[in-house]
Amino acid sequence: MIHADRVALVTGAGSGIGRAIALGLAAEGARVVVSDLDEAGGAETVAAIEKSGGTAIFVRADVSKPEEGEALVGSAVKELGALHVAVNNAGIGGPTAPAGDYPIDGWDRVIAINLSGVFYGMRHQIPALLDSGGGSIVNVASILGQVGFPSSSAYVAAKHGVVGLTRSAALEYAARGVRVNAVGPAFINTPLIEKNMTPEARAGLVAKHPIGRLGESEEVAELVVWLSSEKASFVTGSYYAIDGGYLAQ
Ligand code: NAP
Repeated sequence: MIHADRVALVTGAGSGIGRAIALGLAAEGARVVVSDLDEAGGAETVAAIEKSGGTAIFVRADVSKPEEGEALVGSAVKELGALHVAVNNAGIGGPTAPAGDYPIDGWDRVIAINLSGVFYGMRHQIPALLDSGGGSIVNVASILGQVGFPSSSAYVAAKHGVVGLTRSAALEYAARGVRVNAVGPAFINTPLIEKNMTPEARAGLVAKHPIGRLGESEEVAELVVWLSSEKASFVTGSYYAIDGGYLAQ
């Protein structure tokens, strides 16, 4: 069990990729703080972890509010005794429109959740990880943290920002035992995709993946669980694509 005796926090863990990461960390022995806006989804994740013999608590937090990111870390330390692993995964797709028509309020919301939310999380997670003698942060970026995508300027800008933030923080804390990495999934079968796609658009997306299908949340979780563990002790400041060949084209 590569996460035995460790406490992990996962945002957006009430659904999709975040739920799979929370389940994966718990299966490797971590006690998990499942956080989300969606209380019902969060409760389902906690129940699934407990059903398989693991330990988890739910803490509701909106990542776009810095004080809630602080309270979330406080709950992890108070309820489970420490923080060793943080996964900043919560995110939204946001509106789709060319930059010249992009709704300003949509831009503000995507940046607040997908970029500022990661910073607010790290801002409070890093001191707690240092207090615990070191640990790991994994930020869930996207292939769209490396390349553009039409009609998604806010999402693409936020995910590029997450990759830059990850690299800077990794440099700052590499010598102090906190590793910081980003993962970049291509399109993954989750409610985020289902909410925003017609079947035709989905087929078009599949065609963009050389592997011939979308990814699964559990495939992303495998990478995040490894990166978060001491098995990845020499890995920091990295961006790992998990994309069925998308970025190789
Ligand atoms: P998802 O199934 O929609 O799950 C995201 C979860 O985050 C939902 O439970 C959502 O709650 C929650 N959330 C939204 N806003 C929040 C906030 N302000 N504070 C706390 N929680 C919030 O999405 P997913 O596909 O698993 O995506 C997870 C991450 O992977 C995101 O960062 C996304 O950008 C990234 N990603 C996804 C894909 C993909 O193809 N699916 C590809 C690359 C990267 P509500 O349902 O209540 O909004």
